[in-house]
Amino acid sequence: MYVVCKEHVELAIEDFVDEYEDAPDIVDLKETEFSDWDPPVKCAECDKPAQFLVV
Ligand SMILES: [Zn+2]
Repeated sequence: MYVVCKEHVELAIEDFVDEYEDAPDIVDLKETEFSDWDPPVKCAECDKPAQFLVV
């Protein structure tokens, strides 16, 4: 699972495919509320706000 900004979403997809050999689901964090989990505030690759969840 990767939490990334818009610029790094493609990188996260590539990493996901390399690791799991399957296409990930992309979740827009702005449109999704998690009842029991707070997603990271920052991108995993840089200091920008996290925007997408790649799972
Ligand atoms: Zn980023």
